Amino acid sequence: MGLKLKKTYKFAVRSSAYIGLFATGLVAILTSLFFEFSGLFVFIFGLSTTAFSFFVLQYRAEKFIYKRVKKIYDEISFLDATDFHNQTITTDMATLTRNVKKFATDKKLEIEMLKDREEYRREFLGNVSHELKTPLFTVQGYISTLIDGAHKDKILRKKYLERAEKGVERLVYIVQDLDMISKLEMGDVKLELKTFDLVALAQEVMDLLEMKANAKEIDLNFDQKYFKPIMVKADYQKIQQVMLNLVVNSIKYGKEKGSTEIIFRNLENNKILVRVIDNGEGIEKHNIPRLFERFFRVDKSGSRSEGGSGLGLAIVKHIIEAHHQKIFVKSTFKKGSEFSFTLDKA
Ligand code: ADP
Repeated sequence: MGLKLKKTYKFAVRSSAYIGLFATGLVAILTSLFFEFSGLFVFIFGLSTTAFSFFVLQYRAEKFIYKRVKKIYDEISFLDATDFHNQTITTDMATLTRNVKKFATDKKLEIEMLKDREEYRREFLGNVSHELKTPLFTVQGYISTLIDGAHKDKILRKKYLERAEKGVERLVYIVQDLDMISKLEMGDVKLELKTFDLVALAQEVMDLLEMKANAKEIDLNFDQKYFKPIMVKADYQKIQQVMLNLVVNSIKYGKEKGSTEIIFRNLENNKILVRVIDNGEGIEKHNIPRLFERFFRVDKSGSRSEGGSGLGLAIVKHIIEAHHQKIFVKSTFKKGSEFSFTLDKA
């Protein structure tokens, strides 16, 4: 560790001036009382005393402060060996104060981040086990019943095996969502940006969900015919996931014989707005701010038959934000909802 050569001389200059003045005055009086007064003698005496005091004071004070400052640095680097080791030691108080303050602020931020992570970890673990419990117990229940004798009945066997399979499917679905959300929240997901046609992507999503919509007789369509492709630059897979989640929700929470409409609108700054509108059950106002929280569901106790993992919208929000885009929601309870997001046109 080197000594930083930013010194202050004020202390030594002043102190040596006081000593010099006092000694010179005293010698002047004494010589005039006991000897013959000599101006030159007094002058040389005063000058050399002042110079000597200056050097002694400067050297001693520096050494004194350096020793103490070094102790502070050593104690800090004992706490944080990596950060402080290669810093120079300084006797300059302003720099020292700044360094210590910076150290304290960094530590505070680090502690806060660790606390947040710990909180996140605890909450996440709690939610995960809660989510997995229901389907796991369902599967376990059917398998136990089969082992206990139900397997002998051909019809029951098929029925219970199918139900167990449904439970496993749900488990897989939850685990996939969990994997995705934890990757997104840890910032581990890299976007693979490419140029593609948004209209084609939306059509693909609608085709995939046609059966699901038909089951509820929901009319799933564009608001108009889009003859020309709308080229955007984004991660195809991720945006497909966003569209899937939004359209699935519009069906899940849509009413029988209702409708889901997909609309594209041009915005300023070469952006496009994608709107997914349904006329389903809608969302009460006080629940809207919490929709994008992970594991949030409006109907927590009610039948889980419609419910997914409660992660769908959290995943959507993360993906859109990873694209540096915005997501919006408008909803009127018992009337319907609109989820929309922006994308950059290619
Ligand atoms: P889930 O897996 O429960 O669908 P989401 O994160 O996708 O989780 O949605 C969170 C909650 O937001 C849902 O439980 C539902 O109550 C509400 N929600 C989402 N989309 C809609 C919609 N289109 N209409 C009404 N409610 C919705």
